Amino acid sequence: MKTRSLFGRLWSGYLSRHKPRIAVAAVLMLTEGAALGLFSWMLQPMFDRVFVGGDVGALGWIGGVIFGLFLFRGVAVVVQRWLLTQVSQRSIADLQTDLLRHLMTLDAAWFERHPPGSVMERVVGDALAIQNVWKSFLLGGARDAVALASLMAVAISIDPLWTAVALVGVPVLILPMLVLQRYVRKKTRALRATAGERTVRLSEVLNGLDTVRLEGMEEYQAGRFRALADRIVRTETRVATGQALIPGMVDVVTGIGFVAVLATGGAAVASGDKTVGQFMAFFTAMAMAFQPLRKLGGLAGLWQQANASLERLFELLDARPSITSPALPKAPPAEAPDIVFEDVHLSYGETEVLRGASLTAPAGRTTALVGPSGAGKSTLFHLLTRRTVPDAGRVLVGDTDISEMGLAELRRSISVVAQDTLLFDETLRENLLLGRDPDESAVTAALEAAQVPEFLPRLPLGLDSPAGLRGGNLSGGQRQRIAIARALLKGAPILLLDEATSALDTRSEALVQDALDRLSVGRTTLVIAHRLSTVRDADRIVLMEAGRVAETGTHDELLARGGAYAALWRMQFREEAAAGQAASAGRG
Ligand code: ADP
Repeated sequence: MKTRSLFGRLWSGYLSRHKPRIAVAAVLMLTEGAALGLFSWMLQPMFDRVFVGGDVGALGWIGGVIFGLFLFRGVAVVVQRWLLTQVSQRSIADLQTDLLRHLMTLDAAWFERHPPGSVMERVVGDALAIQNVWKSFLLGGARDAVALASLMAVAISIDPLWTAVALVGVPVLILPMLVLQRYVRKKTRALRATAGERTVRLSEVLNGLDTVRLEGMEEYQAGRFRALADRIVRTETRVATGQALIPGMVDVVTGIGFVAVLATGGAAVASGDKTVGQFMAFFTAMAMAFQPLRKLGGLAGLWQQANASLERLFELLDARPSITSPALPKAPPAEAPDIVFEDVHLSYGETEVLRGASLTAPAGRTTALVGPSGAGKSTLFHLLTRRTVPDAGRVLVGDTDISEMGLAELRRSISVVAQDTLLFDETLRENLLLGRDPDESAVTAALEAAQVPEFLPRLPLGLDSPAGLRGGNLSGGQRQRIAIARALLKGAPILLLDEATSALDTRSEALVQDALDRLSVGRTTLVIAHRLSTVRDADRIVLMEAGRVAETGTHDELLARGGAYAALWRMQFREEAAAGQAASAGRG
């Protein structure tokens, strides 16, 4: 396998497209860094010609050049920051968008291993970590490197021997720096993983706030959060200390260099072998080199941090979806098709969920799936929408195996209305259109058919009212009717209803049922229902038991057969009658 460095991938995927900006900024940095060298070099004529030589006239041009250098630096800093902030922000925004796009292709099994909180921490937290490091790199790294090089050039031009003496301590730095870098990287990896756990905890608590309160788990949850937060504090402190140790060591080595140069150079100036100007220029160059050297040392640690986060992000991008579209997809049906499950087997781990299920839902008709919970009814829906794939057997839509169709096209031809439809925290109109752009008359017709006008006038802004978090501003029945209008607008030839009315009160149920009846006209409809009374009029009823089809027929046929369906019907009928009697006894 071709291994590319993380930085290589970042560069070719996200940074190289900003080459012109990076190039301009780099030129500015180069000149800016070189300006520092020029400044220290200007000190030699200043001391030797003006202060020592008494040539006051030279003061003008020397001062002018020095001011010019600083003016240039001031302008260069602003322009660079402007350019490079654009580059770092845009490249990370691109990376984050790619991540989200990619995440949406990954299947349920992957998300079971990676809970939403930890994925969010990567997309937000790790991306931010990279951005911060990246910014300091771009903004400082190149300039510091050039400044260091130009200052060294001045130092060497004055006296190579002094320079060598000043740098005696540097080799001592190499080994500890390597060790420290590994340490920082390891700790940062642990830190990012713990940050992921913290976000998971936070999202679990906030999503389960009701349970937390009712069970009085506040202290327990806070304690668990605190433990994670403490671990982050400890690791963060270690990373920061490890990182500071590198520039810290640079400090010590520079101190040694200073003393060594003073000892050797001081004597040379006193004896007249070197001028004061030469010594001052050299000394200034060394003193100024100290700052970029420190910063570059610090960058080494930051780089390790960025690497740990980059690893985590590319790991996400490299996760491959197991359910994909074929290379040459066949078109899904435009008209209502037959749907056939052919001897389908499926296991989740050790659990056999489907054990040779075979059934046909005829085109344009309503087929009901009934049977005890856990029988595998919802799993059939998952297979049909290819959220999961069978271990054996086939699923055909209009004579074509769905694995030969494009995923997006297949899903476009199916509308699902489930027990509790999730609305996004946007306006009702946005929830209805989902980015599509149908004409206003189609919207009105869909709303009418879905019985939405029955409650719309009671909302403050009509269709432009916000749905609230998870659609919380609407009642269950209202949410279902928005979902039905949405399905009508989608116009898909296949309709899947998963307990669509079971969470509703009797009045809402009647309204929603009426809307569903209109929705299912001319579509191949599969209905999962617990209450048999809601599906007695279905064209075909399929009774599932333990992953297989036990009985198939119309309501009357199945009753006449006197098998499992008939038994189930009698049981529910007795329960309903008993409930009815209890209710009327209560009233009487
Ligand atoms: P039904 O809709 O008839 O109530 P389902 O199709 O939802 O039944 O589930 C059938 C069985 O599959 C159940 O025992 C359920 O626990 C199991 N199951 C469903 N999804 C998963 C999953 N992602 N991982 C493991 N087991 C699952």
